[in-house]
Amino acid sequence: MQQVHCEGCGKDVPGYDVTHFGSIDNEYRDLCSLCFNTEVAKLSGLDNFNSARLEPIGISDCNGELHQFHFVTRLLVSMVTLEAFELQEGQRAGYEFQMIGDPEEDQFDLLGRMVKRIRKTLSVKHLADDGDGHGLRIADMMVRGRIGCDYSEGVPAPSIVVDGQEISWEKFGSMLSSFEGWQFRLEILDRSDEL
Ligand SMILES: [Zn+2]
Repeated sequence: MQQVHCEGCGKDVPGYDVTHFGSIDNEYRDLCSLCFNTEVAKLSGLDNFNSARLEPIGISDCNGELHQFHFVTRLLVSMVTLEAFELQEGQRAGYEFQMIGDPEEDQFDLLGRMVKRIRKTLSVKHLADDGDGHGLRIADMMVRGRIGCDYSEGVPAPSIVVDGQEISWEKFGSMLSSFEGWQFRLEILDRSDEL
């Protein structure tokens, strides 16, 4: 995994943990999330903000498959964002979550809500493979997922991530074609909203 040197604490940390941080009067520095949060807390007078580096947690889905979630907390003055994501070859891939919390609350409460949300999402699969050679199909009448981007052909193409797996636009289209004549409803939600 690509490691980046934090110019605050001097530690080598994964690239996803680093923010290019600075202000007009300050030079820009690459800071790990802990150093970034300490700087923001100092600048905004949030002396009690306590962010700990969260260790990855493994959570099983309804098929018994284990998913390893990594966490990054960022203090953004009036709110805290907590992100949870899986990695494949050092890159974010699969399930991804964001939750927004209050800088004044105990950050482990926010982590607790996050784990609850992850468990709830992983307890349902929207796609099914009947093993009849037709590949994946929509299991029920509802699909929840995330809008992604597919760069595999050299040009960006839309893709979606359902059940933690990336589905090309074409493949999703063919899954929909078995519902020809039916109606559908599409609602787009903020990345931190509960699906
Ligand atoms: Zn650091």
